[in-house]
Order: sequence, then structure tokens, then C-alpha cells
Amino acid sequence: MSAWEKNIRKVVPYVPGEQPNIPGMIKLNTNENPYPPAPGVAMALQDIKTDRLKLYPDPTAKLLTDTLAAYYKVGKDQVFVGVGSDDVLGMAFLTFFNSDRPILFPDITYSFYDVWAELFSIPYERPKLDHNFRIRKEDYYKKNGGVVIANPNAPTSIYEELDVVRDIIEHNQDCVVIIDEAYVDFGGISAACLIKEYDNLLVVQTFSKSRSMAGMRIGYAFGSEKLIRALNDVKYSYNSYTMNQTSIHLGVEALKDRAYFEECTSMITKTRSRVMWELKELGFSFPDSKTNFIFATHEFIPAEELYTALREEKIFVRYFKKPRIDNYLRITVGTDKEMDALIKVLKEYIHKRK
Ligand code: PMP
Repeated sequence: MSAWEKNIRKVVPYVPGEQPNIPGMIKLNTNENPYPPAPGVAMALQDIKTDRLKLYPDPTAKLLTDTLAAYYKVGKDQVFVGVGSDDVLGMAFLTFFNSDRPILFPDITYSFYDVWAELFSIPYERPKLDHNFRIRKEDYYKKNGGVVIANPNAPTSIYEELDVVRDIIEHNQDCVVIIDEAYVDFGGISAACLIKEYDNLLVVQTFSKSRSMAGMRIGYAFGSEKLIRALNDVKYSYNSYTMNQTSIHLGVEALKDRAYFEECTSMITKTRSRVMWELKELGFSFPDSKTNFIFATHEFIPAEELYTALREEKIFVRYFKKPRIDNYLRITVGTDKEMDALIKVLKEYIHKRK
């Protein structure tokens, strides 16, 4: 076997989730937003001049980075954008981590971190979460090559307070700490306010969840000028045109409507509270979710069985099994109507099974 084949054998491909396309299905398996993007996005889409599409996009996506800087009140040189936060995170692994010392991220967390580490030959260690799925911050105090924390974490849905994040950054001043905030708009507080204090902090967010634009693939990061310059240097020597014209344009439009964004996220958090209460009544337990999904286990029915029962009714959720996670469902919070359908199927199934 040739050297490249040996290398690639270590890589476990990660496909970001099932994307079935079945008429009438209820899709609660990949944490998308059930509501459409802001109305201005639909209007802007109609206005796109197809003539513009024959031109290359601005490789720096300056319109979008400047708009994000103004929206989040950070410097224009403190923003980096990419094709979804997966692209931004992948680029950050490539830029900041190397084979000198292992990087640290929790076991369990977003499964792409292992994939990038393997792919880029970055050694890593995965400190275990405690029995309540919480981070033990002391695990991240030892000398290492970098730290990655999803906050809120996926798939556990748990948010760690900003003090915990700050302590981890404090103890890792000589390496880069990445805080992946894909779900922060559903109840967490962003660590972006800390980039003024810590030049080793990179905060990554996305338009895929709270802004209902997973299909456009827009992700971004905030960090010190030093970190953002490094990301751009790697990007331009490797992949100059990551964002397309339409994503840049529609991303800017989405940011204009703060009221819609707030309304949408609050509808999701309200539905989440109601569904958590109903799931509890049905015998489920779960951590307190600060995301647009619920990580739930049932007192006596295996997760795989519930997953199959729901699937038969065209309701798609994710389920997790050993070795990494034992017996949990991850249910995206959809519209009230979708969640009513989910609860109805679960209620009937659990009742029959008793
Ligand atoms: N981080 C976490 C924790 C996620 O769960 C996801 C997607 N499910 C991402 C990053 C990537 O999201 P996107 O590439 O759509 O921005």
C-alpha cells in the first residue's frame, strides 16, 4: 500500500447527517431552523442580477466581513468568513494546530474535530465530560497544542458559563483556543466579547442555525487581528475563492433584520421549553438545552427503537449508540406543529409498549 493510502486509511469520513427527501416528512435530524430566512433574503434573492454571476466574487468577501464587524461591534480586521462554520473551523485547525503537541477537545463533542485532526495529522486528546455531560475545566489546564470547545456543546446541548470559558483561555495563553458557537443564539452568551482581552481566542459562529440559512453555507469567526491575518494568509495560499457571490449578498441581507432574528430564536426557545416538559411526562430525561435541539434518553425504551418508530411515521431524528454515546436521541426543535406530531407518535408508541 502506498504512503498516501496508509495515511488516508486513518481518516473516518464524517457525513454531516442524513438528508432524506421524502414527501410529507418531518425533518428533525440535523438541527436546521424550521422557519424561513428573514423576508429581506427572499426579496434580495429575486433581485440578484444574473449578469453578476459571470464575474468572480470578491475573494475577501469584504461586504460581508464589514457588515458582520458593524453588527457585532468588533474591528473590521477581526472577522473571517467561510463556507459554513465547518470551513472556518477546518481552516483554523490547519492554521493554528500542528503535530508538536496534542490539542484537546471533550469526549463527547462535535464529531468533525476528530476528522480534521486525523486528516491534518494533528495529535489530540479527548478529556471525558463528567457524568452530567459537563466540562471539567481543569482537564484543559495542562500544556497542550490548542483547545476546541463547542459552547453550547453538541450533541449534549449544554452551555458552559462564560467564566468557565475564560478560565480555560487564561490557562492556555500560549496556544489558540477555539470556541465553536454554532448554537449560541438559542440561550448562551457569546465569548466574542473576550477577543479584546485575549489575542489567542477564536470564536466561530454560523448562519446555518439561528439565521435559517444552512443551505447558503455561511460561517464566520471573530478573533484578534493577529489570528484573522493568519487565517487569511493560509486561506489565500490554499483556496482563494471560498465564498460565492450569492452567499455574500444574502448573508448581508439577513443581518439587516434583527427583529426577525430575535422573533425566530424566541419562537424556537419557547417551543423547546414546552416540548421538554411534554417529553418529561413521557419518561424522557435530558440536560437543560441551550440549543435548538434536545438530547434525550428514555427511562426504558432504547433510543434506536424510538428512532425506528418515529421514522416509520416519516419523522426523522438522530440517535446515538455506543461506544461514544449510549442510548440518546437528538431531536431538533421544529415548528409547534411538527413537535405536536412528534409527541403524538411518541405518546402512542410508549403507551402501546407499556
Ligand atoms: N459546529 C457544530 C457544533 C455543529 O453542530 C455544526 C453543524 N451541525 C457546525 C459547527 C457546522 O455548521 P455549518 O458548517 O453549517 O456552519
